[in-house]
Amino acid sequence: MEIRPQKRIFIGLLVFTCVILFILIFLLWYVPMVGLKNIHPSLPPLFSFALALLVFLMTFGGLLLVFTILRGKDIFLSHKLRGVVAKVLFPLMILMGRFVGIPKEKVQQSFVELNNHLIRSNRRRIRPDKLLILLPHCIQDFDCQIKITGNIRNCKGCGKCEIKDLIELSDQYHLKIAVATGGTLARRIVLENRPEAIVAVACELDLTAGIQDTYPIPVIGILNERPNGPCINTKADLDKVRRAILEFLEGPQPSGSSGK
Ligand code: SF4
Repeated sequence: MEIRPQKRIFIGLLVFTCVILFILIFLLWYVPMVGLKNIHPSLPPLFSFALALLVFLMTFGGLLLVFTILRGKDIFLSHKLRGVVAKVLFPLMILMGRFVGIPKEKVQQSFVELNNHLIRSNRRRIRPDKLLILLPHCIQDFDCQIKITGNIRNCKGCGKCEIKDLIELSDQYHLKIAVATGGTLARRIVLENRPEAIVAVACELDLTAGIQDTYPIPVIGILNERPNGPCINTKADLDKVRRAILEFLEGPQPSGSSGK
């Protein structure tokens, strides 16, 4: 099975992080052992047991994650794994990426792809009225004077930007759709709509923050395209948005369906 470059970055960083952590755990075990024995003779075995348990959990979690990525199916607990990746591993990966010279943006892309992969592995189906499409404000044409935050359906459908197409897409599948200007508004939209799943279009930074903030709600993240630079007249790949919608409504789609 193909491992896309972004996923390779994540797996590479994961292995590197595990090696560093194993070295740290060994030092933690080896160095204070004498001091602990002086405090109480039963402390060294207890301490060793706790560290061995930690090593076992790390190895088990890491292998489970790698096998889930390779197989593309939920082997066991992929839902929980996504939480561990979002809350624990991702911040560590950013740190390790900086250490070995991988740009933050690449690690964020890798995280989004891995998150999407774990959601697809889970194969959970969602009712249309429980699925939300969340868009960034920068997709709206920069010169459009209509206020679409608050109510995207204020759009007059002139076709100068993809807001028109995305509204049509949401109507076709009877989904909720909203535009957010930033993280605070996005959180409010999620709280008000109470979706069971989200298809989000945004840049790496907003997608990673959104996926972390909204966990455990599954979010398939689709990176926006920026032909005019960041934050102005950005584009969404409508095919990727449609495929992500169908993955939630109908289950995983045939190969080639990985929207970043
Ligand atoms: S499609 Fe809607 S949001 Fe986009 S420019 Fe036209 S009226 Fe404005």
